Amino acid sequence: MSRTVYVNGDYVAEEEAKVSIFDRGFLFADGIYEVSSVLDGKLIDNAGHMARLGRSLSELKMARPCSDDELLTIQKELIKRNNLSEGVVYMQITRGAADRDFNFPKDATPSLIMFTQEKNILNSPNAAKGLAVVTLPDIRWHRRDIKTVQLLASSLAKQTAKDMGADDAWLVEDGFITEGTSNNAFIVTDDGQIITRQLSNDILHGITRKAVLKCAEAAGLTLIERPFTPEEAYEAREAFSTSASAFVMPVVKIDDHILGNGVPGPVTQKLRELYIAEAKAAAV
Ligand code: PMP
Repeated sequence: MSRTVYVNGDYVAEEEAKVSIFDRGFLFADGIYEVSSVLDGKLIDNAGHMARLGRSLSELKMARPCSDDELLTIQKELIKRNNLSEGVVYMQITRGAADRDFNFPKDATPSLIMFTQEKNILNSPNAAKGLAVVTLPDIRWHRRDIKTVQLLASSLAKQTAKDMGADDAWLVEDGFITEGTSNNAFIVTDDGQIITRQLSNDILHGITRKAVLKCAEAAGLTLIERPFTPEEAYEAREAFSTSASAFVMPVVKIDDHILGNGVPGPVTQKLRELYIAEAKAAAV
């Protein structure tokens, strides 16, 4: 079925949607994006995604095409027009179309597109069985805190993981795991500590990561934000990743090491439940 999508001011059928071949998103990956999940037709953690979008724009000195309120109106209109109950809303802003030049154009109008995608997030089979991940070198640039559309390194890593028979990759730099290809990485140690890398330019500041840390704290769990090695992860009792499009996702195998009993662990399951309850209660 054809979706209605949003392109620079217009709601159009997806087959009709067009952007310029001179768009700097296309030529330079000069664009940023956000993905908000939708449950029961409502947006999850959307204020966090809006705030990060604003930060990505300002870090890249990119003009904003409209206000957060206008963005929210478009998100909601797309959910309505596409009758979306569960899935995601994707939004992307680029610096706009201009003759090809590395320097930023003086007067390009930023380009804004949005579309919806249906996805079974709550009852995903992967959440029930847990993922197998492999560790791969992190070859991305040094501003991973900015959510840009230059996702080739992540795409390559995810495809390599798939070709190796795994579900995803956790990326390694200087001997430590940075994050997953499209998610933040966590382990639970034998004594029940939850460990995830601290915020810096080395990782994306996950909106779901932040919310899950809050849930963990409220539940009285011990949190430590520090880098951890693949070897430490192999010995972990549990592991999981977090993202807007998969929430808390259990990881049951890392490289050749099966964690615990090879099924999603109790801390992971508890955090998934707590996050879903919190997220639903605050949905807009
Ligand atoms: N890290 C990376 C590299 C990602 O691409 C994503 C998801 N886009 C995340 C972490 C998770 O962030 P969030 O919880 O905001 O979706």
